[in-house]
Amino acid sequence: MSQIFYYSTNHHAPEVPLADALLAGQAPDRGLYMPRSIPVLAPAEVEGLKHLSYAETAAHILGKFTEGTFPPHLLLNLCQDAYDYEVPLEPVRDKQYIMRLDRGPTASFKDFAARMMARMFGMLLQMEKRELIILTATSGDTGSAIAHAFYQVPNIQVMVLFPPDEVSNRQRKQMTTLGGNITIVGVDGQFDDCQALVKRAFADRELKKLPLTSANSINIGRLLPQAVYYVYACARLARRGEPVTFSVPSGNFGNMMGALLAGRMGVPVEKLIIATNSNDEVPRYMESGEYHKIVPSRACISNAMNVGHPSNFARVVDLYGGHMDETGKIHRQPDLNRMRKDLWAVSISEEETRQTIKAAWQDHRLLLEPHGAVGWAGLQRYAASEKTKGLMISVETAHPAKFPEEIQALLGFDPEVPAALTGLEKKKENWSRLPVDYDAFRNLLINTYAS
Ligand SMILES: *Cc1c(COP(=O)(O)O)cnc(C)c1O
Repeated sequence: MSQIFYYSTNHHAPEVPLADALLAGQAPDRGLYMPRSIPVLAPAEVEGLKHLSYAETAAHILGKFTEGTFPPHLLLNLCQDAYDYEVPLEPVRDKQYIMRLDRGPTASFKDFAARMMARMFGMLLQMEKRELIILTATSGDTGSAIAHAFYQVPNIQVMVLFPPDEVSNRQRKQMTTLGGNITIVGVDGQFDDCQALVKRAFADRELKKLPLTSANSINIGRLLPQAVYYVYACARLARRGEPVTFSVPSGNFGNMMGALLAGRMGVPVEKLIIATNSNDEVPRYMESGEYHKIVPSRACISNAMNVGHPSNFARVVDLYGGHMDETGKIHRQPDLNRMRKDLWAVSISEEETRQTIKAAWQDHRLLLEPHGAVGWAGLQRYAASEKTKGLMISVETAHPAKFPEEIQALLGFDPEVPAALTGLEKKKENWSRLPVDYDAFRNLLINTYAS
């Protein structure tokens, strides 16, 4: 094995080692970092993985990308710390499965990537004897995901600004009951006010002495961990290299990029189903070769997938030899024939999403929330249209208890709330308040971190 370098999808920035790509987030030419080469697993190696725990599998796979950056034993420690929860592979019928990625601390699949990226950051900073302050504004779920991911990670402080009137009690408590290196600030205004304060702090020359950074969602550190669960599922379920079809409910296409990487690593992926909600810019592109973003994006009940221009799609285009810039303009078409061979795209309507939640429960006692239902509907459509009888796995990306109103309305009961989302009532909250006033915010930053 040798060290892998990372290039920018816009091709106007130097190739860098993983550490630089991680800490930079976006490449200087506004492109996204991609690995120059993708390590390939031998079939026997994949077979062997079925005896490993999820954390061990993650260390094995990620180790190939982090060679030269993290010593293997330290990487294994990070994975064991990040992945202390279950990854259920649930048989539904025939050879159709659901992979539940909703058992992490914020009950969303984003925990897989955010927790690993946070720990890779922490390890790098420890090795370089540096510290970072992550500053972020949130209107709800992102803040708690970031706060949980970076909680107790060494050499990192986190400050989250949020609008108390626009956030539910549960969302607030998910952030304010952590403490430690997580500082939560309620701003007496709206989300836009929070974001404006954060933006001004990043541009403020007087704050240059503070190592401020944002936790960027397009960071390569968020992508690589999302290849692991596809390899894990293949190792567990695919006997002797039997081909697998995955259905991935997609918004920003980070999860799908993970599946594509897994395929390129040599696990036996037959087809990847791109299942979107009514934001169907990618299914249309796959059909016509013409890309049109959807502005503004359409509001669907699978709200984390309401994306009219997926930031990771440039990576998909790149993987097939094309070039799409950050605005969505295509400078060079990818190999569309090859894309269509690997990928099958479908847009699922709101009506079909709801019907799928009902039917899955009635027919199989399978409890899905709206995002997972889009994936499952995509899988059913593909199975029907291609008459395939092979192994199929649909990905559930959030816990149904995060959507109690929808489940109650469709199925007539309240989903059981997992431990990760309960017990908040008893915990002590700790947060401060701030007026919408930049000088007050700057003083708070200096008093908190510059002393
Ligand atoms: C973010 C998210 C998605 C979409 O994943 P992408 O990687 O953006 O395609 C799907 N479901 C849930 C619950 C999410 O939070």
